[in-house]
Amino acid sequence: MVDTWVQTAFAWAPWVLFAVIISVTYALTRREEKRAPAVGQTFACAGCGRRAAQGQMATVEHEGAVNWYCHRCAPHQMQARDPI
Ligand SMILES: [Zn+2]
Repeated sequence: MVDTWVQTAFAWAPWVLFAVIISVTYALTRREEKRAPAVGQTFACAGCGRRAAQGQMATVEHEGAVNWYCHRCAPHQMQARDPI
């Protein structure tokens, strides 16, 4: 009885391991695809170079490229790109 259980366990072990590896790889790939900035990640201001968290930065899209500006540089960028 014990021998049968051991044989079954070893017969399934490679498949279980395979499934775990696939799941982990899939989870990691999905996480990269989302491209959500991690908490605590800082961005450098494109204007003055000051680093700040994402919440304190503003994105300014310029010809398809997204630039990050701090709260000090963002208003100047908006005015420069959007003259009223
Ligand atoms: Zn700045």
